[in-house]
Amino acid sequence: MTDISDQYQLTVNIWRGNSDGAYQTFEVPVRDSQTVLDVVTWIQRHLDPDLTYRYACRVGMCGTCAMTVQGKPKWTCRTRIGTVVENNELTLGPLRNLPVIKDLATDMVPFFDKWAEAGAQFVPGDQVPEQMAAVAPDSRARRAADVAIECIGCGVCYAACDTVAWREDYLGPAALNRVWTLVNDERDGDRDGHLRKVAGESGCLSCHSHQSCAELCPKHLNPTASIAGLKRKSFLLALVGRS
Ligand code: SF4
Repeated sequence: MTDISDQYQLTVNIWRGNSDGAYQTFEVPVRDSQTVLDVVTWIQRHLDPDLTYRYACRVGMCGTCAMTVQGKPKWTCRTRIGTVVENNELTLGPLRNLPVIKDLATDMVPFFDKWAEAGAQFVPGDQVPEQMAAVAPDSRARRAADVAIECIGCGVCYAACDTVAWREDYLGPAALNRVWTLVNDERDGDRDGHLRKVAGESGCLSCHSHQSCAELCPKHLNPTASIAGLKRKSFLLALVGRS
């Protein structure tokens, strides 16, 4: 961590334009407890109202403020500049692996389309249960779902993933992590169907277990472990006809 408390101006390089853009440099006053999102907001309010970026909650819940910070994808509302600034300089760009709309705002449609392609929606059973399903909190399936369920859809793992960069059709860590929660949801009416949908080359089989998603997920989830679970259960399904 860099001690920036005695410094007054921070040099901030920000990507401007679309994918053919370039970095523009700003000087920003340093404040106590300043976050990366505070810096971007200060620039937009005081230096350049055209600067385009995205945020909503500012408290780490909505998942909209992710950007590339010093070369790595991060949420910016909870990233303090003291944890990332080097040599009094900060470089910010749009998320990798997604089309750039303008400046720091990326088009998230391809990211969420992959969730739809992965079939990452709950499937109700054929019968309406008379009573609400009682899921034991300490069951193996519930515990597996628990560690994956807190995803906020920020896209950090998608931007961090080299397989997403290599294969346009790869569903990506977040969509597969969501499918893992459904495969472990006792209430879901088509758990094997979920598995079959992601068992191919564009799904879990293409994960190289580089772990960039687990390293950078701001919610400390481990999509690589979820994808490994999908690989195991898909193999069982192919071998004995049930997961
Ligand atoms: Fe963000 Fe983590 Fe969800 Fe990926 S798994 S979208 S990094 S919260």
